[in-house]
Amino acid sequence: MAQPTNAFQMAQRQFDGVAGLINLDPEVAQMLRWPTREYKFQIPVRMDNGSWQVFFGYRIQHNDARGPAKGGIRFHASETMDTVRALAMWMTWKTAVADIPLGGAKGGVAVDSADLSQFEKERLCRGFINQIIRNIGPRIDIPAPDVGTTPQMMGWMMDQYAKLTGGEYTPSAITGKPVGGGGSLGRREATGFGVVYVVREALKHLGIDPHEATAAIQGFGNVAQYAALAFTEHLGGRVHCVSYWDRSDQTDYTVTCTTGIDVPYLQSITDAYGAIDKEKAVEAGYQIEAGDAWLRKDVDLLIPSALEAQINAETVGQISEKVRILAEGANGPTTPEADEVLKERGVFVIPDFLCNAGGVIVSYFEGVQNDMNYYWSKDEVLERLDRKLTTAFQGVLQIAVGEGLYTREAAYILAIGRVVDAMQLRGWI
Ligand code: NAD
Repeated sequence: MAQPTNAFQMAQRQFDGVAGLINLDPEVAQMLRWPTREYKFQIPVRMDNGSWQVFFGYRIQHNDARGPAKGGIRFHASETMDTVRALAMWMTWKTAVADIPLGGAKGGVAVDSADLSQFEKERLCRGFINQIIRNIGPRIDIPAPDVGTTPQMMGWMMDQYAKLTGGEYTPSAITGKPVGGGGSLGRREATGFGVVYVVREALKHLGIDPHEATAAIQGFGNVAQYAALAFTEHLGGRVHCVSYWDRSDQTDYTVTCTTGIDVPYLQSITDAYGAIDKEKAVEAGYQIEAGDAWLRKDVDLLIPSALEAQINAETVGQISEKVRILAEGANGPTTPEADEVLKERGVFVIPDFLCNAGGVIVSYFEGVQNDMNYYWSKDEVLERLDRKLTTAFQGVLQIAVGEGLYTREAAYILAIGRVVDAMQLRGWI
């Protein structure tokens, strides 16, 4: 039985491996293998029944050498300091590989949003900002949504930030806001579409015809839905299955149709938390399989877009020989042990902090539009996103091919190099 994965240990192991490979100064490596600042705080919330409930919140700033720290706030029942540390560290590499002038941060609250009423969610969001107000801001650290948080929640947070800072409208303090409330067009699609922009480049590199390409996806939330949509509608490929977590029976399922799922139809029977109505799916002819069936499909691509550590020492052996590309929509879906096997097998991995960077890139565009007080069309946003991601992909590919390296190592080399350069330019090292 594999040990439960500690995401932060995993992030540190990935970093240590590459730090060794590039002979990074051990003192600099010591600075980068831990976050710069960590905040843990109580958020007392008045519940609808009049009682008080205390939630625990985290905000962790890993590195801000290249610009203000940047990263989402995750509301998840099993959130821990170490998960947030890992996600903050990956954000530093993500903003660096995408070459946007931001650092890395992440926040979290140990809560399941689905257990709260609308008013309780609003009080929790405002409470989060009350506790961290001294340490965030458009030139310090800019939060955004992540798993369990929504554009509406970002709207409340931005409003609370304005209230506590003297009432000045400062939309760029928080990104991922609703369109019409300071948000950017294209932010909803950004991460999933971005996954497919880099998949398109990988298919080109490997000489695979996108029209012949098949994929299996884990998850059917924000990232997975738009990745599935772009994979089928923009690239002309086929998605054999998606998976989801069913809250009613606390089980994960794979929803399959080997001739290709109908993405808009499945979206129409999916709730706000990414759970599919399985009765309706069965009526429409879909097959309902075990939660891990997606991993064993005979497809060209796997696109894990749900949770950390899904491809690990135990599961990696179940991946079909047909799989050529692993496109990591989720953060940290592959453990270092599984990486060794994938490397050996020659699977082309598009590492998470490159593959899912679309969200933070459009968050950055949102901040730029907020500061200009001028908004771009959706096409303009998505075109700029495509250019940024394609450039980032080519940068990583060039190092991987040029130096005969695994793509994850190549992406780390590019990102670490940019962060270390900024630290040097600022006289930190
Ligand atoms: P989401 O909450 O919208 O969707 C999560 C999906 O995963 C849901 O369909 C849920 O049912 C499914 N799921 C949960 N547990 C599962 C299980 N055990 N088996 C199968 N499916 C399961 O989240 P999201 O925003 O799509 O994020 C997914 C991943 O992508 C996370 O790792 C997140 O950090 C990462 N990510 C998200 C963004 C973004 O912009 N949303 C950006 C970068 C990275």
